[in-house]
Amino acid sequence: MILYIHIPFCDHKCGYCTFNSYTDKHHLKSLYIQSLLQDIKATLRWWKIYHNGQNLDSIYIGGGTPNILDSRAYARIFECIYQFTSTPKEITIESNPNLLQKQWCKDLISFGINRISIGVQSFFDDTLVFLERKHTYKDIFKSIECARDFEHISIDLIYGTPFDSTQRLAEEIAYATSLPIDHLSAYSLTLEEGSSLHRRYHDIKPDMTKHNEYNEYGDSEYNNGEYVATLLREAGFMQYEVSNYARGYKSLHNLSYWRGDEYLGCGAGGFGRIKNVRYCGTHNIERYIQNPLYKHKEYLSIKDLDFERLFLGLRCEIGISTHNLNPKKVEILCSENKCMYLDHHSIRAKNFFLADEIALWLSS
Ligand code: SF4
Repeated sequence: MILYIHIPFCDHKCGYCTFNSYTDKHHLKSLYIQSLLQDIKATLRWWKIYHNGQNLDSIYIGGGTPNILDSRAYARIFECIYQFTSTPKEITIESNPNLLQKQWCKDLISFGINRISIGVQSFFDDTLVFLERKHTYKDIFKSIECARDFEHISIDLIYGTPFDSTQRLAEEIAYATSLPIDHLSAYSLTLEEGSSLHRRYHDIKPDMTKHNEYNEYGDSEYNNGEYVATLLREAGFMQYEVSNYARGYKSLHNLSYWRGDEYLGCGAGGFGRIKNVRYCGTHNIERYIQNPLYKHKEYLSIKDLDFERLFLGLRCEIGISTHNLNPKKVEILCSENKCMYLDHHSIRAKNFFLADEIALWLSS
């Protein structure tokens, strides 16, 4: 079983952000932690009974900006967690480069956290300004130095900005792969029509019609993504999901999620799923603080679950079972080299960037 914990505070809102994060609620941090502890306790107590005393395999602390909280907050969180489980194999925490401190990293390692994911996004200051990130190129290298004692370091990158060119992407990947990291996530920028980011993209690159058309049909992501994947492969990073690359270490948490395993979620807007029930804590921080045990529940049908498994499985190396698929369609995909057999009962996409297209075709 895996556990997700959400920390919804940020010092600044990035231009592309759609996460449940707040920049004006810092005065609520200590009340939030108190409520989060109640939530974690209730969740793990219930899970211990439900799962007959098993330990957690992985914990992921995301946000928001988890490194905006003092390490003392995490001392309390892990004191609570370790009443119910021994140290999981993987504990990841997300962080922003500008706020990362050496002592904070040391403290978190002492609580058992062995993996840090740093929101680098780009090595170019003009791209970082465009994305409305708060950090600079220099902050990235300082943050990697602070984080060097974590067993595993991952970074996030964003491509598809108006500054992208073949040369620029190659330099981004060269900087990234020169760092002492064993994992990288590369995401294509999503531009919401009418957003300020969309307007600014147009100001920098007026010839954006093509970009929009490409994004709508997936081609732009495919082209840029393919190029990024090739550069990363050449640097020893293996693509194991459409946006995720490993140089020797694949995230257990990610794999568990993509396999369709159940997961627990705590915090404001933290999602979990047990059997066919997907649940989520209240997004609004004030309301979450008042009632951290309230979970909005969504009941998924078998069809919903199968559809989700199809999309998640085809986007990564895990693949999908052919059990409920049309055998003729499976044969066509394999004969046209779009998919390959993993064994007699499962296939995987050869090109993860085409996974959504394949999943839609299979389910039509
Ligand atoms: S740091 Fe992350 S969560 Fe916070 S505003 Fe930026 S993208 Fe959103």
